[in-house]
Amino acid sequence: MGRVIAIANQKGGVGKTTTAVNLSSCLALEGKKVLLVDIDPQGNATSGLGIDRRKIQSCIYNVLMEELAAQGVVVRTRVRNLDVLPATIQLAGAEVELAGMDAREFRLRKGLENIRRNYDFVYIDCPPSLGLLTVNALAAADSVMIPIQCEYYALEGLSQLMHTITLIKKRINPGLQLEGVLLTMFDGRTNLSIQVVDEVKRHFRRQMYKTIIPRNVRLSEAPSYGKPIVLYDARSRGAEVYQDLAKEVLERG
Ligand code: ADP
Ligand code: MG
Repeated sequence: MGRVIAIANQKGGVGKTTTAVNLSSCLALEGKKVLLVDIDPQGNATSGLGIDRRKIQSCIYNVLMEELAAQGVVVRTRVRNLDVLPATIQLAGAEVELAGMDAREFRLRKGLENIRRNYDFVYIDCPPSLGLLTVNALAAADSVMIPIQCEYYALEGLSQLMHTITLIKKRINPGLQLEGVLLTMFDGRTNLSIQVVDEVKRHFRRQMYKTIIPRNVRLSEAPSYGKPIVLYDARSRGAEVYQDLAKEVLERG
């Protein structure tokens, strides 16, 4: 049974999608069967894996709203062993439409029920909010991975996220665990980055990944070619660190 991991942080631009695409790809190339579920209406994980959103017939929206079987919606990617449940612009209306539905927090969980057994890992790329889409991800997940950008105000909003996770555990998904905190866009030349690492260490010592993702321009270029970093530039620092992160994930078991 595949482990389901939500990649969440209500802040935008902290590296959720970059991590979802590249960690999934690296695990897949290590021989694991991986599904990436895109529940951000922006669909950056979908397009970042080279899938043309205009050519898709059905997407995660139809799974959530119409209970369409996920098997029929899954798309293969150019990365061996990596599939994606894509998001199209249709998903933009979901947040509002979900509000009026039965079992509105559990629709993703239900949608993944029959498909998760086909994979070793299922990653969910969350939108930058704590709305119903993210709640659906946290309700469906075994654990949550939190990327934190090594920037000013890095920890701002984090207590709200932790509070949401506590509420979800209490009311919706008692088994939800904190998978780990991942520091992203680290710049060793700045004191600020170093301070953020220290501060996050103080808060999350045990749950912090040893691997820290540096700022690397190749990582920001890769999505426009529809490729994960390991296919775009396998020799880049960005490719190396996401491979390191995949190994760390596998070692943790
Ligand atoms: P989120 O999904 O949390 O909104 P993204 O993964 O889309 O964040 O990242 C935001 C922007 O920063 C994107 O343009 C992305 O390409 C870029 N980016 C993410 N991680 C890195 C990194 N380690 N180095 C350089 N650019 C990065
Ligand atoms: Mg994103």
